[in-house]
Amino acid sequence: MSTENDYLDGNTLAGPLAELFAVDLTVAEGKCVSCGRNGPIADLRVYGPEPGLVARCPGCEEVILRLVRTPDAAWLDLRGVVALRVPLP
Ligand SMILES: [Zn+2]
Repeated sequence: MSTENDYLDGNTLAGPLAELFAVDLTVAEGKCVSCGRNGPIADLRVYGPEPGLVARCPGCEEVILRLVRTPDAAWLDLRGVVALRVPLP
């Protein structure tokens, strides 16, 4: 059972995403497909970790991304984000 506030913040995704990407993607800004909200990945509401991490928009609660780690692979579903803006030096 999960309650309305039974989630972690988007910084929870730092470790799992760091395994996939060389840069810290929690500072990347994404635009929600559903409501158009722009914001950093760190602001997302993250549920999980089992069966996978599910990050929802703090504006409309729509699923922004899903990340599932299996013993030999990682599955990243970014269907809820229009685009990611990754700041680079
Ligand atoms: Zn949204």
